[in-house]
Formats: sequence, structure tokens, C-alpha cells
Amino acid sequence: TPNPRVALVTGTASGIGAAVVHQFRELGYQVLAVDFNEQAKEKADAEGAAFFKADLTDGDACKAAVAEAIRRFGRVDILVNNAGIQHVSPIEDFPEAKWRQIIDLMLTAPFLLTQAVWPWMRQNGWGRIINVASVHAQVASPGKSAYISAKHGMIGLTKTAALEGGSQGITANAICPAYVKTPLVENQIADQAKLHGMEEQEVIEQIMLKNAAVKRLIEPSEVSGLVAYLASDAAGAVTGSSWNIDLGWTAQ
Ligand code: NAD
Repeated sequence: TPNPRVALVTGTASGIGAAVVHQFRELGYQVLAVDFNEQAKEKADAEGAAFFKADLTDGDACKAAVAEAIRRFGRVDILVNNAGIQHVSPIEDFPEAKWRQIIDLMLTAPFLLTQAVWPWMRQNGWGRIINVASVHAQVASPGKSAYISAKHGMIGLTKTAALEGGSQGITANAICPAYVKTPLVENQIADQAKLHGMEEQEVIEQIMLKNAAVKRLIEPSEVSGLVAYLASDAAGAVTGSSWNIDLGWTAQ
């Protein structure tokens, strides 16, 4: 097509973001992959995606990422807010700096990126904002106060963007996965195994999948498949919603 869709995807060095870049490139979309990790550049090169290095906890870097997409491609049609980190600690001991870092990266950056892409989407009368939230946007677990607060906030941002975008051809939706097989989770499995003196398989079965009806981890490609649907023309009537891919966790 003469005008392939242009997507800006954050957090693309590994895991879900890398899977989204791969799937978007397979669909023939132009992609700007945004990450602070240099490994994401190699990944982007291998997929034929453009890369912009940015620490998204910095508001100016968020704006610069969108400016880069415009400079390269002249438009942004799809924004996927995916970059995220975890920190586990009880509220009593939770470091203020970690709290601020997580809120900056996982709530303020998605807001600033949405704000910066908005005029371009409005101008084209078409836009897709896809926020990678979490099952922890729906329910809590102990020790993850900042992550859970950011993810719950992301649902509020998604709903507000949906209402404001409805008359402008812009949709906004969130995806809420349970544990996906990515480095973020593999590190948690290793940490928990050490902490509890358990085998990694026991951690997966007894901790990660405790609330799951389907007893397995989710593949990144299963999440990117839903991202691709929500980014498509076919999903034009879908907005303001949260899509659980949670192995049945929240069914109980
Ligand atoms: P991951 O660790 O594989 O990838 C996260 C990416 O974010 C990395 O590329 C990392 O470099 C990037 N990143 C981190 N801090 C950044 C910063 N300051 N600036 C720019 N980039 C930064 O993790 P993942 O599991 O693929 O997670 C992706 C998203 O999915 C996150 O928002 C996460 O909360 C969410 N999620 C993951 C799971 C899971 O089980 N893995 C479940 C639910 C939701």
C-alpha cells in the first residue's frame, strides 16, 4: 500500500514489545521502536524497524520520540504503550524513588505519548492507542503497590482517551495479561525460587499460576496477536475496553 500504517511501540528490547514489533512488521507497518536499552536497536534493525533511544521516565524524551516518528514517517497511526518494570516490596519499605520511577514510566509516559500523537491522529481522523496494562490493573497482589497503582491508572487513562477520541476516529484500549513468558517474569521466577528455596517449576505452578484456570504461562505472541487486532480497521467499534488475557485469573 502507498501509505502503510505507522506505529510507535515502547519497550521493544524483549518480551511483549519485541513481539509487537515483529507482528507489525509482518503486517507491513512502519515501526518506530522506542527503548532505553541498546539491545532494542539490534532487534529493531533485524526486523527492519526504526529505533529511537529514549528513557521514557523523562518527559522530554517522550516528546522527542514522537517528534522522531513524525520526522521519519510524517505520521503516527498506532501508539502501543508497553514499556514497564516491576519492583516488589511492602508499602512500608517501598522506596519513594522507585515509586516515582514506576509512575513516570508506566503512567506519565503513556499520557505524554498519547498527548503528543493526538494531533497527528486527529488530523488523519484515525488512530489506535493500545495500552499494555496487566491483570494487576484489575486485581492486586501484595508487594507491588507502584506497579498496581500505575496499571490501574492506565485503565483510567484508556477510558478517558476513548471518550475524547470517539468523535475523532481515535480508539483507546487496554490489554490485561497475566504472567507472560518474558525476561520480566523469568527474573521474578528466579528471585522467588531463591527467596522461598523452591524449584523454578514449583514457583511457576504454586505462585504464578495459583489463580489461573489454564495452567501455563502466556506466550508474547498471544499478546501481540490481540494488539494487532485492536490496531486493525476491524476493531473500529472497540474502544475504552480492557481485554483480559489472564488464563481465567479474574474469573473467580
Ligand atoms: P520486558 O522486561 O521483556 O520488556 C520491557 C521493556 O521496557 C524492555 O525493552 C525495557 O528495556 C523497556 N524499558 C524499561 N524501562 C524503560 C525506560 N525507562 N525507558 C524506555 N524503555 C524502558 O517486559 P515484558 O514482560 O515484555 O513487559 C512489557 C509490558 O507488559 C510491561 O508494561 C509489563 O508491565 C506488561 N505486562 C507483562 C506481563 C508479564 O507477565 N510479562 C504481564 C502483564 C503485563
